[in-house]
Amino acid sequence: MNKLPAPLQNVINHLARLPGMGPKSSLRSALAILKLSQSDARDFGRAIYNLHDELALCARCGSLAAQSPCSICADPNRARDVLCLVSEWDSLLVMEEGGFYQGQYMILGGLISPLDNMPPEALELERLRARLREGEINEVVLALGATVEADTTAQYIKDLILREFVGIRVFRLAQGIPQGGEVKHMDRETLRQSLKYKQEI
Ligand SMILES: [Zn+2]
Repeated sequence: MNKLPAPLQNVINHLARLPGMGPKSSLRSALAILKLSQSDARDFGRAIYNLHDELALCARCGSLAAQSPCSICADPNRARDVLCLVSEWDSLLVMEEGGFYQGQYMILGGLISPLDNMPPEALELERLRARLREGEINEVVLALGATVEADTTAQYIKDLILREFVGIRVFRLAQGIPQGGEVKHMDRETLRQSLKYKQEI
């Protein structure tokens, strides 16, 4: 291929770092951006430029939001006694998309995986403890998926809660999740069913 003009190549290089983008799709997207009006392209660029500055981390659940607490944590109509633990924000988004869960959330920030240098200490356990110490939560639902890491993490969290917070019941999603499955990849109906038939552990 002929050498592309540097400004275009620069955009392509950035696009190529995004998930699912190869050299061809990056070129195609860069050309599509080029076809935008100058003001649309600038708005696009400005949105990316401001992304980090204009997002806050919700102090209660750990999700990204326009302000803290986020709209979910601040919603007075949601149940305050059930806490759903997810590994990452995208799992929360999938849960919310279905609209069948009406409790609270907390993001753990990963799953325990010694091989990937993710010891239990790397998770948001202090945030979890602080939340449970408030005394509002009666039930914790682990929505961590069905991987080895999810099982290890579920066991660890269960032990922690049973040891430190007597009286709080711990559930996991029913085993409708295929082995190896991650919550963020589950379809809405499977997720709804597995929440409905959650199992106490
Ligand atoms: Zn929140």
